[in-house]
Amino acid sequence: MSTIFGRILNGEIPATRVWEDEDGVAFRDVNPQAPTHILLIPRKPIARLSEMAAEDAPLIGRLMHAATQIAAQEGLTDARYVINDGAGAGQTVFHLHIHIIGGRDLGWPPG
Ligand code: AMP
Repeated sequence: MSTIFGRILNGEIPATRVWEDEDGVAFRDVNPQAPTHILLIPRKPIARLSEMAAEDAPLIGRLMHAATQIAAQEGLTDARYVINDGAGAGQTVFHLHIHIIGGRDLGWPPG
């Protein structure tokens, strides 16, 4: 099933891309919750984290590493990496994505 992020991946919908490689694409969130708010998505259309297969583990690991590199590229020394898994956890787009959030002090617990 194609989502809005699938349409960003294939260029149908514009996005401000900040990074990409063969595994994934990162672009700025259209409704940022902090001065830096980036979404990192795999090119592979995994709907949600709990639907990843064991064979996806190396891919997800590389994306988590890429997330730290993107945060550094953004000049963040501290950052929050968030994956909402399911509607009850706040997921609204069912193409797996890692939120990279920073640039201000972040409270805990989140809402
Ligand atoms: P989640 O609630 O975890 O599924 O996160 C979805 C995120 O996608 C939200 O933070 C939205 O602001 C963001 N979003 C939705 N549509 C777009 C878009 N076209 N470009 C960039 N970010 C988007």
